Amino acid sequence: MKLNFILLTLLVMVSAHHVSAQKQKDKKRVATEGKAATADSAKWKKENYIINRDSAYANPRVGLQKLISGNRRFTEGKSIRPRQDSSIIKKLSTGQEPFAVVMSCSDSRVPNEMIFDQGFGDLFIIRTAGQVSAEASFGSIEFAVLKLKSKLIVVLGHTECGAVAAAVEKPQNPPGHIVALINAIKPAVAKSANMPGDPVANAVRQNVIEQVNQLRELEPVLSRKYTASEILIVGAVYDIHTGKVEFLPETISNLPSPKKTAGKH
Ligand SMILES: [Zn+2]
Repeated sequence: MKLNFILLTLLVMVSAHHVSAQKQKDKKRVATEGKAATADSAKWKKENYIINRDSAYANPRVGLQKLISGNRRFTEGKSIRPRQDSSIIKKLSTGQEPFAVVMSCSDSRVPNEMIFDQGFGDLFIIRTAGQVSAEASFGSIEFAVLKLKSKLIVVLGHTECGAVAAAVEKPQNPPGHIVALINAIKPAVAKSANMPGDPVANAVRQNVIEQVNQLRELEPVLSRKYTASEILIVGAVYDIHTGKVEFLPETISNLPSPKKTAGKH
């Protein structure tokens, strides 16, 4: 009888503990779900400068806003790190629709997805030191434009770029293939040589402007699509001190008029 009582007491205690643990679990789940609901709210979207992904893919001007917004989150310490879990990997296994093509420097301090706070499937990136272009870079951009229907192309330079600094120094005999990088950046160095201020900073900006112009004039695909306002090609410089991306006014003013078929303009 006594043993039965002890067993019963134990059983009650165990089940009480179980109920309480379950209650805690439920509480946690509700809290998580509450948070998720908040994360989708209009207020949350506004506070975090969220721009619809499909609109950014369909319209390069919206795409540009999405990159600006993402970099703003990043610099304000509000990164949401979107589309980075395993479910998105599965979803993207059937195809990709990157809303922007980024031609960027290889510099390890310029991680493109992080500085724009984007995730899997968002950015189609071509990286070489000094973001110089070769046939392979051109082909990669054309592939993104023709096959993946990306409509926004961003040339992304950065402050204190080693490749640009090397070109400014004009070394006599650069080793190996590094000469190819320096030769590609030379025209920008020459054009910015007499500008006031820091020669590397000036060459970085001029290099981006030259590269933007080169892509806008690139036959047969990009030049035609750019003139027809089917794509946008712009340039930007990332500041390695602040994390901020500045879209260069020289490359975002006087853009071709938005395509008429877009309707709402
Ligand atoms: Zn660089």
